[in-house]
Amino acid sequence: MIGPGMTPNELLERFYEMCMASQFWSVDQLRAYQATQLEQLLRHARATTPYYEKRLRPVFRPDGKVDLRNFHLIPIVPRADMVAHRDAMQARELPPGHGPTGTISTSGSTGLAITVTTNGLCRIANDATRFRMQGWQKVDWARVVLDRMGPGGAEAIAAPPQELGTWGAPWLQRSATGRMYQVSRYLDTGPLLDWFERLGASYLVSGPNMAHVIALDAARIGRKTPIDTVLAQGNVVHDADRHAVADQFGARIVEVYSSKEGGHMAHLCPEGRLHVNMETVLVEVLDADNRPCEPGKTGRVVITPFYQTGQPLIRYEQGDWASWGGPCPCGRHSMVLEKVSGRSVPIFTHPVERANAHLMPEQTTELLGASYWQLAQVGALDYEMRYVRKDGAVAPDTALITAMFNTTYFADARLAFREMDRIPLTAGGKLVEYVNEYKKG
Ligand SMILES: [Zn+2]
Repeated sequence: MIGPGMTPNELLERFYEMCMASQFWSVDQLRAYQATQLEQLLRHARATTPYYEKRLRPVFRPDGKVDLRNFHLIPIVPRADMVAHRDAMQARELPPGHGPTGTISTSGSTGLAITVTTNGLCRIANDATRFRMQGWQKVDWARVVLDRMGPGGAEAIAAPPQELGTWGAPWLQRSATGRMYQVSRYLDTGPLLDWFERLGASYLVSGPNMAHVIALDAARIGRKTPIDTVLAQGNVVHDADRHAVADQFGARIVEVYSSKEGGHMAHLCPEGRLHVNMETVLVEVLDADNRPCEPGKTGRVVITPFYQTGQPLIRYEQGDWASWGGPCPCGRHSMVLEKVSGRSVPIFTHPVERANAHLMPEQTTELLGASYWQLAQVGALDYEMRYVRKDGAVAPDTALITAMFNTTYFADARLAFREMDRIPLTAGGKLVEYVNEYKKG
């Protein structure tokens, strides 16, 4: 399929063509393709990466053959190892055509801050699957995108948008006129929308919850800038986010399930369901005993991205929760993820009981009469529900919400309600629904 000697754009086009064909493969074809990619990755990791020399033993038979039936015996890589064993996780060399390498760091606002080494082929795999998804969603590469995920700092906030060039599939004539611009993530809503209009932009790149906050802000200052689509990055998209940006901007949200470590793992099909990019990553959903979850049962997401060869991640604990959905009517057979919840979901702590990672029920927002809310643990048994009340909403049904809270988390925990003008952002400029502010001891 791919090989050394091609330019990155030739490789990308080839990879994209494969993805356009493989989207309609049967499950068996997809699994067979995954097996060949996995085997190559396992051999590469064992030969070049000190961290994996011994861990991969369960799948290597004495004759050197790989037995994928024992894949589930490979120990899971905890997130903490990304820091503690970062050096040992680096491959001494890359397979031909997989480079060059670079590093990406996570902000660490909701978890452990980590740095991961990526390589050229991962970026190509991400781009190819992203182009495929943008085709599914009828996103037009000839139009203008404004990305509001740029750096902070007074200088960056004051600077005009930085032009990043074209953003579509480079082999298509249509992409040549498209432009992407970037502004600081701390730019206020007014100037952000000014730039959006002046640039004639159609699409906004933003985290879904920040897009929600911007919509509320825009309502306050009376701005109804038309936005075609919010191209969502990171975080989970809630119905409340969709409604807020639809009401204010007429925009839809196109969500992506991705992480800095794992790249683009699942994309929204035309039916609006999240299909795993099975050509690029193996996703497992595991229960507390590390057994695969049945469809509908929520478990931990464990990933193995096939082209991440600079720092191989084999059975990496992504830190998210999800469940498998049933077959999708769109005709694609790749696995469908449902109820993905990010690692911003806290493991709330309790003096005695085991913590869980459940979310508050969907109707919480409505019962609160809130446009936005945040649930914070503030003491051993004390929690605070902070909310911004929607215009015209009646007082929240605190008794019912408290009952739901006690059922979802701990029966003996206490919940206080606090109405606020706005929910404070984290140091990384993010808005999180669940925070644990209680420090033991
Ligand atoms: Zn589908």
